[in-house]
Amino acid sequence: MTDTPLTPHQNSIELLDSPLGDQIVSAIKRTIGASNTTKPHGLHEPEFPGNEWAYIKDCLDTKWVSSVGSYVDRFEDDLADYTGVKKAIAAVNGTAALQVAYQLAGVAAQTEVLMPALTFVATANAATYLGATPHFVDSCEKSLGVDPEKLKHYLESHTHQKGGRCINNSTQCPIVALVAMHTYGHPGDLDALLEICQRHNIILIEDAAEALGTLYKGKHVGNHGYISCLSFNGNKVITTGGGGAILTNDLRLAVRAKHLTTTARQNHKWEFSHDEVGYNFRLPNINAALGCAQLESLDRFILEKRHLAHRYIAEFNDITDVQFVTEPPHSKSNYWLNTIRLKSDDIFVRNSILEQTHRAGFITRPTWKLMHHLPMYSNCPRMPLSTAEQLERSLINLPSSAALGRTS
Ligand SMILES: *Cc1c(COP(=O)(O)O)cnc(C)c1O
Repeated sequence: MTDTPLTPHQNSIELLDSPLGDQIVSAIKRTIGASNTTKPHGLHEPEFPGNEWAYIKDCLDTKWVSSVGSYVDRFEDDLADYTGVKKAIAAVNGTAALQVAYQLAGVAAQTEVLMPALTFVATANAATYLGATPHFVDSCEKSLGVDPEKLKHYLESHTHQKGGRCINNSTQCPIVALVAMHTYGHPGDLDALLEICQRHNIILIEDAAEALGTLYKGKHVGNHGYISCLSFNGNKVITTGGGGAILTNDLRLAVRAKHLTTTARQNHKWEFSHDEVGYNFRLPNINAALGCAQLESLDRFILEKRHLAHRYIAEFNDITDVQFVTEPPHSKSNYWLNTIRLKSDDIFVRNSILEQTHRAGFITRPTWKLMHHLPMYSNCPRMPLSTAEQLERSLINLPSSAALGRTS
């Protein structure tokens, strides 16, 4: 062997296209059409097909661009109407919305919050900001959300009740909340999770950041727990540039949420008085204006996204080494990110598929690294996470923009 220097590309055996990779690339091609490597199909691209320009121009014309203006109120009302919750409170991003939602649920220092290890890092960070400890639970293969069976057995053998609270036997810390995260827009098994939470005196919080437009048993997600949150980041179903919202059916909680996100300022004509440590988490009017316009197109986006998912389902149907992730029973998913699961859970197979799809001009992504595999969360309490670990090595997100599901 000679020591010919190799470029990073040549250096990799992953350069070889595999038969499975060929099958996946051609299924994607048949679904969304050929791509080219100079302008690849992104994973999820925003679209501004309606009143976005008009509403933002209105903000600029009136100079109401920042923390005061009518679009924030309107966006909150429109969100409440759309989701069927009593109140929506806009926030500067989904992470901030989660943090406030957690705080209102009693998450604080010396407490623990149950959440899936398979989630975006914001779910865990928001608890950490409050001084609480994330406590990781396993996911369910079908819904990709928290596995209720495993959670039930785990809580029965690892916790006890004291003074109306659920106490972790090994840390003696109260477990105050469970976060149900609706992975890629597919709702978790909310009824089962709610029942477990009620039995153990744990508050159910929904991280519905990815699931605007998703129904569980006919009711929009975010309606099933104590409090929940949405995100309007640039890659979500609709975007406000950056943004988020807290959803709740409890009017007192809504007042508290608004207060906390707006520096806890007391209502007064001119005086600056604040009665607790609040946050500057309000959504600027200009972002809310974008949100109002985006909401007008949401139903159409979801129709197109579901259409796209059904085309993928048909094309992946007879690839035996791949399973397309479909919405769980009793639900209607927004199919935020279309996802396949490889039969193999060999991470080298997954990586070679990622490489091959990228070479073919399609942006694909692995799922998130599990939370306990990140350095700052590696010592957090957790149950055995066998399913999440298999999912980590075998899930791949496919191009999912609404435009790809457009028929005409
Ligand atoms: C997007 C997202 C959030 C919030 O994200 P922001 O970028 O802060 O709006 C929280 N949780 C999950 C699961 C998400 O996907």
